[in-house]
Parts: sequence; C-alpha cells; structure tokens
Amino acid sequence: MKNAAKSTGTWLHRFAIRLFTVILAILVFWVLGFFVEDIRSIPGPDYDSIEAKHLDLKLVGQRDALESQIAELTRQIGNQTEKQRIVGDSSRSLQQTINQLLELQRLGMQKSVAFSATEQANFSSSLNLFLDNQRKYQELSQTVSDMLARKQDMVQQKEELDRQIEQQRQPARAEYGAIMEKHRLKLAFLQLVILLPILAVAAVILVKKRSSIYFPLFLAVGIAVALKVTLVVHEYFPSRYFKYILIGGLLVVVGRLLVYFIHTIAFPKTQWLVKQYREAYERFLCPVCEYPIRIGPRRFLFWTRRTINKLVVPTDGSGQQEEAYTCPSCGNTLFEECASCHKVRHTMLPHCSHCGTEKEVQ
Ligand SMILES: [Zn+2]
Ligand SMILES: [Zn+2]
Repeated sequence: MKNAAKSTGTWLHRFAIRLFTVILAILVFWVLGFFVEDIRSIPGPDYDSIEAKHLDLKLVGQRDALESQIAELTRQIGNQTEKQRIVGDSSRSLQQTINQLLELQRLGMQKSVAFSATEQANFSSSLNLFLDNQRKYQELSQTVSDMLARKQDMVQQKEELDRQIEQQRQPARAEYGAIMEKHRLKLAFLQLVILLPILAVAAVILVKKRSSIYFPLFLAVGIAVALKVTLVVHEYFPSRYFKYILIGGLLVVVGRLLVYFIHTIAFPKTQWLVKQYREAYERFLCPVCEYPIRIGPRRFLFWTRRTINKLVVPTDGSGQQEEAYTCPSCGNTLFEECASCHKVRHTMLPHCSHCGTEKEVQ
C-alpha cells in the first residue's frame, strides 16, 4: 500500500476553493429563497370579508350616516361662529360710534348748543343698528349652542354604535386570527416539504462523500439548506417549540460527530495505523502491547517508552543477525520472513526494508 501524497494545491487554489464554496453557499441560499418567497406569496385570508360576515351592516350604515351628519354639523357650527364674530366686531365699532356721539352731545349741552336734527337722526339710526346687531348676536349664540347640544347628542349615539360594532368585531378578529394561524402553518408546511428533503439528501451526501474531493461543493449546499430551514422554522414556529427543534438538531449533530471521532480511534484508518506502528518500531516496542522488542544487542535489556532514550546499547557486535520475532507478551508476529526476498522484514509496516515489496498492513 503506497501513501499517495494528497495534493493540496497552491495557496491561490486553496483560497479560490474556499471563496467559491462560500459563493456557492450564498447562491444556493438565494435559490432556496426564491422557492420560499413564491410559497409565501400565496394569499392568506381576507380580513374585510370575515368582518363583513360578523358585522351588522345596518349598524355600520347608521354609524357612517351619523358620522357624516356630525361632520356637517361641525361645519355649520364653524360658519355660525364666524358670522357671530363678524356681528360682534360690527357691534363693537357701532358702540364706539355711539360713545363718540354721546360725547359730542355732552359737550354741546355744556355750551348750550342743541343737537341738530341730522345728528339726532344719526344717533338714533346707529342706536337702532346696534340694538339690531345685539339681537342678531344673541340669536346666533342660541343657534350655535343648539347645534352644539345636537352634536354632543350625535357623538354620544355614535360612541354607542362604535361600542356595539367593536363588540361584533371581536369574534371577527378571533376567526381571522384562527384562519391566519392555519394559513401560516400551511405555508410553513409547504416550505418545509420542499426544504427538508433537500436537507436530508444534502446530509446523506455530506456523510457519504466526506472524503470526496468534491466535499466543499456538498458542504456549501448543506450549509445553505440547513440555514434556510433554520430560518423558516424559527419564523413559523413559536420559540418554545423552536428551542426543542434546535436542541434536537444540535444533539443529533454533536452525537454524530462524537460517534465519528470514537469510531476513528476505535477503527483507525490504515494511514494512522501505520504511523502508530512506525513510532512503536522506532522505540523497539511492540506496536500492539508496548512490550520491548528484545532482539540483537538489546536482547538482555529492558526499557519503556520513557526510558528508551537513556538506554546504553552494547556495541560488541553480538547478535547482529536478524531473525523472525514474535512478541512474547501478546503473541503478535513483529518480524517475519519476506515472501519475496526471504530476508527478515517488519510484519506491521508496509514495505520490506530489503527488497521494498509492499504488503497490506492489517
Ligand atoms: Zn506485544
Ligand atoms: Zn523483502
């Protein structure tokens, strides 16, 4: 078995792969967004039609009529008040005129000059006009106060009608709420019907192809779908359900990862196994049980993983000859005869150190 060195490519290539993985994830997320948007645009219940079923149209008509009457009355009151203001202004100026005429008369009386007939006529016509104005002002006041009383009455009636209509609206709102909730669930269901199978397929491919060179591609799709599903679930299901769904998902993912790592340790891949065996052979320890491999000049020594470096190995040349060897502790063959060159080779390493013949490492 040859360890084919995995090509990692240049920095630029690795960067490009990451960049395009991210871009692909965004694009997939975007495409899923189109599906989801189309489903969301399915129209929901119409509130106005539901309300129309529950409301007494006669009451609504009355209320609307009252409303327009009140508006009309408010306008008229405004008009009358304006008229009243004008009459009031005119009264005040007449009053000034009368005061001036009276002053003139008083001065005339002091000088014993009598009021002329014209002056007398002016005075009486001004006075008449003033009195007339005052009467008009009073009339307008009366009208305005009548109108205000009527308006108050109408406002009260309208409030009563509003209250009744509001009462009728409550069941309408409740019905609308119920129908809307159903509609939302339907939308959520439709979205998940599309998204969940894609997620499932993505997850299966991700797990199956985790050592494929196209892994980044599947990863991008998987992440995009998972994110979209999370968003949809979060939007449509109340957070108290969502909490459980999220924690359930996390449990599955974390559990899966844990199983994966435990599996990796329990059933190591050949590559890791060979590394582990090599390190053991380097220290002259049995790769399986770590009992020292006591051959050649080390035949009468003892060492462990920690003490191997302090060991003084006799160099008198005794026992240099290689021979097959089985671990006396666990019984695994550590050195054996090579099937090709018939010299002694490592049993648990892939190649013969003499002829290079490769064999499968168990
Ligand atoms: Zn052993
Ligand atoms: Zn050989």
